[in-house]
Amino acid sequence: MSNAIMPFEIHKNIFFVGSKRVSVHVFKTSAGLVMLDTGYPDMCDEIIENMQKVGLDPKDICAIIHSHGHIDHFGCTTKLKELSGAKTYISRIDNEIANGTLNLSWADETGYPHTPFVCDVLIDDGDSFTIGDITIRCRLTPGHTDGTLSFFITMQDGSIAAMHGGIGLNTMTKKFLEKYNLSPSCMDVFREGLHALKSEKVDLVLGNHAGQSDTEGKLTKVLAGESVLDKNEWVRFLEQQEQKLDTHRAKEGF
Ligand SMILES: [Zn+2]
Repeated sequence: MSNAIMPFEIHKNIFFVGSKRVSVHVFKTSAGLVMLDTGYPDMCDEIIENMQKVGLDPKDICAIIHSHGHIDHFGCTTKLKELSGAKTYISRIDNEIANGTLNLSWADETGYPHTPFVCDVLIDDGDSFTIGDITIRCRLTPGHTDGTLSFFITMQDGSIAAMHGGIGLNTMTKKFLEKYNLSPSCMDVFREGLHALKSEKVDLVLGNHAGQSDTEGKLTKVLAGESVLDKNEWVRFLEQQEQKLDTHRAKEGF
């Protein structure tokens, strides 16, 4: 079965260029293209082709921002940086994974080689960046990793797109926590983060995996000429994640 999803403009100047395996988003700004996550190491050609299909030149990427330090989110960073000269961003905490100090990149679990990189800008909780005519506000929402960031992106038309940077429970299993000597308290901070984010006003939810935010459903809407903006989607999304976490904890016996 193909993992491909047709690349498309989700909302004005927000593009999906990833696949079913992992999301890659691009924001078109007056200063160039801002990329959010770069996929698995073997997705570089696919991402470049997808960008070209929607009329974006990978050489125009001026910033690459990472949701967290896992191999499926920074796999093509080095290659895309070489191609474009983009500045790279990650949380100060997950930089320890990105630069190879901590062996928690999920590379061992997926069989990919470690591909550490030196990041240009280290993000702290609450940092905000204006890149061209968009603004990206970052909130630390640990759990999936210690340095997972969530993003609130104010677009040119005033709409706010948001991404929770890590909701997978794959790093919150007994097996994983024991293997890397990590504390189960990550599940408590994860839940607190989900709760705290509910007060954010969001018009569009972006998932860092396509299934999280019904990317394909949004594609269908876009193809039908419908808007994908929905002021209720964000809270609905966060509540679903809380329920999933509770079910998971009960199953894992935490
Ligand atoms: Zn991850």
